[in-house]
Amino acid sequence: MATTTSPNKSLKLLFVSNPIGPLGSGLGGGVELTLRNIATELHQRGHSIKIVATKGSTAWGRPLVEIAGAPQISAQTQGRDAPVIIPASSVLANLWDYVRQVQNDYDLIFNFAYDWLPFYLTPFFTCPVAHLVSMGSLTEAMDQIIEQVATRFPGTIGVHSHAQAATFAFADRCRCLGNGIDLSVYDFCAEPASWVGWVGRIAPEKGLEDAVAASQITGISMKIMGFLENEAYWQQILRDYPNAPVEYEGFLSTTELQQRLRQCRSLLMTPRWVEAFGNVAIEALACGVPVIAYRRGGPAEIVEDGKTGFLVEPDSVAGLVEAMGKLDQIERHVCRQRVEAQYSAKAMGDRIEQWFLDILSGRQSS
Ligand code: UDP
Repeated sequence: MATTTSPNKSLKLLFVSNPIGPLGSGLGGGVELTLRNIATELHQRGHSIKIVATKGSTAWGRPLVEIAGAPQISAQTQGRDAPVIIPASSVLANLWDYVRQVQNDYDLIFNFAYDWLPFYLTPFFTCPVAHLVSMGSLTEAMDQIIEQVATRFPGTIGVHSHAQAATFAFADRCRCLGNGIDLSVYDFCAEPASWVGWVGRIAPEKGLEDAVAASQITGISMKIMGFLENEAYWQQILRDYPNAPVEYEGFLSTTELQQRLRQCRSLLMTPRWVEAFGNVAIEALACGVPVIAYRRGGPAEIVEDGKTGFLVEPDSVAGLVEAMGKLDQIERHVCRQRVEAQYSAKAMGDRIEQWFLDILSGRQSS
């Protein structure tokens, strides 16, 4: 370890990104924005941060080390009994080889990857590792290796929501951190346009087809924004709902995203899986946009039914349609206030900073 720790001390932190794709590409989903926001907030608090990520990444002005290599396949596309697969010239292996070489320069290594290798390697490092787990339980191999770390290094497993933690047998040993965004990037919009929005990776676990079905039934137009991860899935939706008044806007930068998102009457969130958090929920609320979400996973902990949106029976298109008819009941400024109170970058920074200090002082807390 580079130094000893006291509460007000500046920490030397190494942020290790995911091996799915470069930061800024959208391939990594919400983890990219999470890493950016935590890095920015902790930098402002006087901590020293270096990011190590796949070649081609942007690091939003923070020091960056780019590492080449073959990407990992997304964990959510595999079955429960899927083995651990690491390709030749793996960027994941190369990232962690770099971490091994420089670990003595840091107080703490911060892992953002939902991959087996960093958990397996944790006992081999002399520098402590904090793991921010960005998805719920997906495979037996991942569950086992995360649990081993939770047992051997208590307090080092962070998650985003209680619902996410509950997908693991070791839920009680996870530290729930929520998430946070930089509110100055998101402008409040009091008067929405006529359309609703859907934001996310276009992939089966996100359940886009239900939102498109609701748009077709109501005739309310919908703007879809996000990384097109699964082209075949998207084309099937277009074939199944030929009359839905939907428009695909592409994958947008955060600035462009908020410009469109804030005009929405509502954001629809229709995940089929237990969404660990759902960054897009707090991004919408920050703009004053109510969220209509399935009562499942992270969004069910973020949205207050009837106050900041509506929680709908999971997988019920009729429920979405009904909620779309009640949007006048929601006061948009209440949505913004909720994010200011619970999901600001400052609130998240406080939680992360305390988590790191607890790890470094050897305290166990969940
Ligand atoms: N996003 C973006 N541009 C877009 C659509 C989405 O940058 O056009 C980002 C959005 O800001 C959010 C992420 O994509 O941070 C989606 O994260 P979320 O937690 O909702 O879901 P995940 O993809 O991690 O399952």
